[in-house]
Amino acid sequence: MSFPAGSFRHERRYAGPLQAVILDWAGTTMDYGCLAPPAAFVEAYRRHGIAITMEEARRPMGAHKRVHIQRIGEIPRVAELWRATHGAPQSEADIDRIFEVFVPIQLEILPRYADLVPGTLEAVAAIRARGAKVGSTTGYTLAMNRLLRDEAARRGYGPDEMVSADEVPEGRPAPWMCLENARRLGAYPMSALVKVGDTLPDMLEGLDAGMWTVGVALTGNEVGLAKADWDALAPEAQRRLRDRAYERLYGVGAHYVIDGIWELEPVLDAIAGRVRRGERP
Ligand SMILES: [Mg+2]
Repeated sequence: MSFPAGSFRHERRYAGPLQAVILDWAGTTMDYGCLAPPAAFVEAYRRHGIAITMEEARRPMGAHKRVHIQRIGEIPRVAELWRATHGAPQSEADIDRIFEVFVPIQLEILPRYADLVPGTLEAVAAIRARGAKVGSTTGYTLAMNRLLRDEAARRGYGPDEMVSADEVPEGRPAPWMCLENARRLGAYPMSALVKVGDTLPDMLEGLDAGMWTVGVALTGNEVGLAKADWDALAPEAQRRLRDRAYERLYGVGAHYVIDGIWELEPVLDAIAGRVRRGERP
């Protein structure tokens, strides 16, 4: 049997070790429940005469914080409230003004929400033990992230690289923060990198960067509860919230979903095995 010319195509596939793991900040490595941002958004809106709920405040989570404010303003109830209070729809200038008020509020309260999620230090040690680098991305601005970095360092956590939403042309769900981490870390190909985060934009960021993407379901924005509040829930309520978070993270294409970063190591083993066999995300 003979085949016509061009019937076979040879493909180049990476089959080496994992090169880097890029971790989100709030809700993934620190601030269990991702509580700091919604608290600051509620206060920033309150100072503009609008009472938004914590649930409304966390709906756009993951985006650059200025974009986040714009998205809160687009929620129909908030849009209507704004119009009724200020006599006109929320404008670009209004968004700038709210963002201006938001920044110092967020900076002031961040240290109160800077404790590490259990398992973070062990996960970081496991990443480094396999010879991979630790990157990070966030919807926070550089000024906020510098503060977080200092708080994290006091608690023993220091990623090799951090990229903030205002250092790239566009924050999540665009992939630029992930790709900028890869560039600064000198880590490639993208199929040897893993992105870990707690929001749907986190998942899209990793997937569009061509990276393996892992969601953390319980410690982040999808459940949105401090550890003590989660622990106080009845098993049935926990199961309902957990199932919903898994469904939503898998729903946008996450390769793996875990309860929290303390479960990351076996998932990295599984991904490393797939990469060694030449699989791509
Ligand atoms: Mg987060």
